[in-house]
Amino acid sequence: HVVVGVLSLQGSFREHLGHLDELFVQLNSAPEYSKYRFSSRKVREPKDLDGLAGIILVGGESTTISLLLQQTKLLEPLARLIQSGTIGVWGTCAGLILIANHVTNTKVQLGDRKYELIGGLDVSIERNSFGRQVDSFDQELSFPAAGIGSFKCVFIRAPTVTDVIGKTPVVGSNSSVVAKVYTKNEAPVEVISRVERSGKSMVVGVRQGHILGSSFHPELVPDYRFHKWFIDEFVL
Ligand code: GLN
Repeated sequence: HVVVGVLSLQGSFREHLGHLDELFVQLNSAPEYSKYRFSSRKVREPKDLDGLAGIILVGGESTTISLLLQQTKLLEPLARLIQSGTIGVWGTCAGLILIANHVTNTKVQLGDRKYELIGGLDVSIERNSFGRQVDSFDQELSFPAAGIGSFKCVFIRAPTVTDVIGKTPVVGSNSSVVAKVYTKNEAPVEVISRVERSGKSMVVGVRQGHILGSSFHPELVPDYRFHKWFIDEFVL
């Protein structure tokens, strides 16, 4: 039984669960997947992590999700699970921010509460790289690594990957936050997509071994190919 979790504290978890459930109806009746039986699960507390083969960390507001991860006591076990390398992980948008080991553009008012990251991906992420909510946009992109020719990518106050930071923890400054837990991920960081915007080429999709990160929202378009690729390539 293959169970894929969706972190369901805040943000677009209903849309991801809807995409998985739709896809799983197809896979559960497809002859080539007959040795598997798929289901999805909302992840809201530590026990929901038991036995997962994959997890999606959804888009929303990363500062809010970070606080909720601390309150629900999910942060540490989730970070350990991701670090163990035994689970396929996909962070989209705010989820990508949370699985980065380093984040910039973090001017947020959290009072004395900490903006803690799950970590796991050896990259530095810049939040809100394309500007404010009104600067959100859609663009067709292709993903040769995924065998996806053209996919409508929705960017909503999206982050981008600005650097690969290697194995050494980066020391934080006023404008940066560093994950507490550092990955032992030995796989290289691969760029899987870029978008050209205002004359700049920005990285909006990366992979490092069992971890996938995307700046955009495949759960907001009626197209299941990206979710299917995650299942085939990272979960099975
Ligand atoms: N700007 C949001 C953040 O920093 C992410 C936006 C999104 O997930 N669509 O958390």
